[in-house]
Amino acid sequence: MNAFVTGLSACESSVFSRTEDYIRTHHFDRPTLVIDTQAVARQYAALAQGLGRAQIHYAVKANPAPEILRTLHGLGAHFDAASRVELQMCLDAGARPDQLSFGNTIKRASDIAWAHETGIDLFAVDAEEEIEKIAQNAPGARVYLRIIVDATEAEWPLTRKFGSGRDKALALIEMAKEFGLNPVGLSFHVGSQTRRAAMWAPILDQVAAVWHAARDAGHDLTLLNIGGGFPAFYGREIDAPALYAQEVMKLVQQRFGDVPHIMAEPGRGLVAEAGMIASEVLLVSKKSDNDLHRWVYLDIGRFSGLAETEGEAIRYQFVTDRDMEQTGPCILAGPSCDSADVLYEKQPVQLPLGLRAGDRVMIRACGAYTSTYASVGFNGFPPLDVVAI
Ligand SMILES: *Cc1c(COP(=O)(O)O)cnc(C)c1O
Repeated sequence: MNAFVTGLSACESSVFSRTEDYIRTHHFDRPTLVIDTQAVARQYAALAQGLGRAQIHYAVKANPAPEILRTLHGLGAHFDAASRVELQMCLDAGARPDQLSFGNTIKRASDIAWAHETGIDLFAVDAEEEIEKIAQNAPGARVYLRIIVDATEAEWPLTRKFGSGRDKALALIEMAKEFGLNPVGLSFHVGSQTRRAAMWAPILDQVAAVWHAARDAGHDLTLLNIGGGFPAFYGREIDAPALYAQEVMKLVQQRFGDVPHIMAEPGRGLVAEAGMIASEVLLVSKKSDNDLHRWVYLDIGRFSGLAETEGEAIRYQFVTDRDMEQTGPCILAGPSCDSADVLYEKQPVQLPLGLRAGDRVMIRACGAYTSTYASVGFNGFPPLDVVAI
């Protein structure tokens, strides 16, 4: 998989081949995500190798397919879940409560109480009210404080909405103690799809400043949760997974020293490349005879799984059966009756000029943040179907 570093290569086709073969040899009457669990296992092995002693907690929200959860559980993964339903899915896949972290900083009180009764004992916090809720519903629990980091270079940032300002961190740790909780450490998220390990350095500096200030103030922090951000290959160069993870751990070691417990929460980087969507062209048209713009409408769009095309942030790669023919730019859109359902327009997509209704279009690296982002039935279109192979 190191071949990803140089972009297109002979290796790439072999990595995508099981899902692509499956799609080529099956018929689909709706958009379908095909997930290769062997590819998930290979990626887990690569990340685990690079992460060394850090424990992987798979970020379930990236793709909660039971086959993925079972595969990862079998390989020794722990899990980061955002809600009672996600936590239950992990338990159903065989995970023990002590392998689960309730990592959403915005939790329902009744979900906290349920988690506590179930034996789940690790919670994320970033605000006073959340500390009060956890103290009330999960007395004595271990908590880690999520902090805001600035200047992310990620393609899908996860800052701003989550985390406490670094100036408030010590006060919140003290408050957690006063409320009888056990504040064990810090967490942050570098931002999803951070393509290069080197981009972590300035973020880790910010977190390390809080870490050392807390230790200096007498707080015995033992857990550092480095979150997700591990990239997938969408066409722009990325560092290969094992090297990337190894480099991140080196940057962590330089700044934090020998932290007893390190958690990593890859989502996208573990499962995106293992999935491919089978979709179909529903219509190719021009709005007037001399219009320069060609519109291509697929049977999948912003509301049926491709939500991350918002702001054209994540740019998927498309494979058709006409890829040897001449290509030209097009505006790519989904099938629904909402004019926001346009995937790429500011930066058009190159697709074969011969493309027409009924043609198959395969979308690469769709294993993360697609199936659960599909609406339940907007316009009567069914949610993205999922097949694990
Ligand atoms: C979404 C999320 C992750 C996973 O992020 P990726 O960029 O997909 O790896 C990890 N941790 C938390 C707390 C998250 O919310």
